[in-house]
Formats: sequence, C-alpha cells, structure tokens
Amino acid sequence: MARIPLISGNWKMNLNHFEAIQLIQKLSYELRNHDYDAVEVSVHPPYTDLRSVQTVIDADRMRFQLGAQNCHSEVSGAFTGEISPAMLAKLNVDYVIVGHSERRALFGENDAVVAAKAAAVFGCEMTPIVCVGETLEERESDQAESVVETQVRGSLASISGDKLDELVIAYEPVWAIGTGMTASAQDAQEMCSHIRKVVASIRATSRNLVRIQYGGSVKPSNVTELMAMSDIDGALVGGASLEAESFARIVNFKDA
Ligand code: PEP
Repeated sequence: MARIPLISGNWKMNLNHFEAIQLIQKLSYELRNHDYDAVEVSVHPPYTDLRSVQTVIDADRMRFQLGAQNCHSEVSGAFTGEISPAMLAKLNVDYVIVGHSERRALFGENDAVVAAKAAAVFGCEMTPIVCVGETLEERESDQAESVVETQVRGSLASISGDKLDELVIAYEPVWAIGTGMTASAQDAQEMCSHIRKVVASIRATSRNLVRIQYGGSVKPSNVTELMAMSDIDGALVGGASLEAESFARIVNFKDA
C-alpha cells in the first residue's frame, strides 16, 4: 500500500490568531485540489490560534489537517498551564507533534515523557508525529544511528499493536533545524531507512505503513530531492511554513 506523503507546517511560537487566519487563507489560495490529492497537508499553529484556524478550515471546507505542536500526557487534572489531548481532539485536531527537539532541549522532555504523550494522543483518536534526531556532536562522533534508535525505541514504548501502523515519525537532525543547513538527501534517506528497520523490529507489519518525515531547513529548493527518497514520506517544515508561497511550493513539490 502506498504511503500518502504528509507535509506539515510547524508555526512554532509565531503568529497571533489574526495573523494565523491570514496565513491559512493565503495558503488555501495558493493550493489546488490536485495538490491535496497528492499529499496530506497539516498546519500546526500555536494553541491560541487553533480555534480560529479550525473555524476557517471548517467554514471554507479547506482540505488542511489541523495539527498541534505539543500536549500533556494526561487527559485532565491539576497541571496549570498545560493543554490536554482531549481538548485538542475536541477542536478537530488530527495530528499532534510530540518530542520536538525544542521541547526535548528547552523543556527537558525525555523519551519516557514523549512516549506517554504519544500514547495519550492515540488515546484521544489523533495521530502523534514523534520527533527524533541527533545533535551535530553526536553525528560527528558517529553516534547518530544509535542515538536515534534509542529515541525511537523509547518514544514508541507505550504505543501498542496496530496503532504503530498509523504513526508518523519525523526525523529531524537537531543541527539542521532553523539553521539553513539541511541533511543531504542520501544522509536523510539512510537515517529514515534505519528508523524503518527499528520500527519493523518492534512490529514487522508496521514497516511499510509507518510514515517517516524529514525535517530540518526544508525549502522549495531542496524538497524535491528529499521527497524522491524511498523512505521519506513527507516533511516537517518550520521557517518555510510561515510564508504561504514557500510552503505551497513545498506542498506541490511534484510540480517543481
Ligand atoms: C521544525 O521546526 O521542526 C523545523 C524543521 O524547522 P525549520 O524547517 O525551520 O528547520
């Protein structure tokens, strides 16, 4: 079964809800039906923009999937300042990024936390996008594969059975995020192939079903080469997703 590519725009802590509405409208204007037939497109605004963006998507019957950038692992409770996966599900959120390297590095999230979040997202009938990736130091000391394997095994530890088939993993080398440096298509392919093997060792039938995105300075100029790789099933895009025209050119990479 062919894996449908997933191109996701991570807006990070950018755009208030007025600006978010403008961006989704501009993006919709740039894309055509055949673009959405070829790839799934998810947008991940900040929490405070979700309701506004969801309303526009629904009202104008746009073909975007709504995404979030994070959530808590509990469905409710005394967790001041946190957002529950059940709250996101109620907003028709489809995809939730968990374990982004900025969450891991700046907010101390380890694999156990990421695993709990990923399971909680599935528990609320949404799909987690689980991020993994090595630092430059780890790559230069030849540890990239083992670091990423440990992250994959740890972050998927609480995902059971056939849920693994539906999972999205984003391979995002930390040194490529927001730096303008991109992994070569060959290096990205090698790591995504390695990740697929690790997934297969957990559950053989998931091998050809799990989708693996590449993330790290994806731009219109490099997306086609990356997407041509057999184990890369999409892109997680930060900076270039904040501008409608550049994100649209990434989405319709096949026309490039
Ligand atoms: C990201 O935020 O996940 C990301 C890959 O950012 P950028 O595309 O800006 O490198």
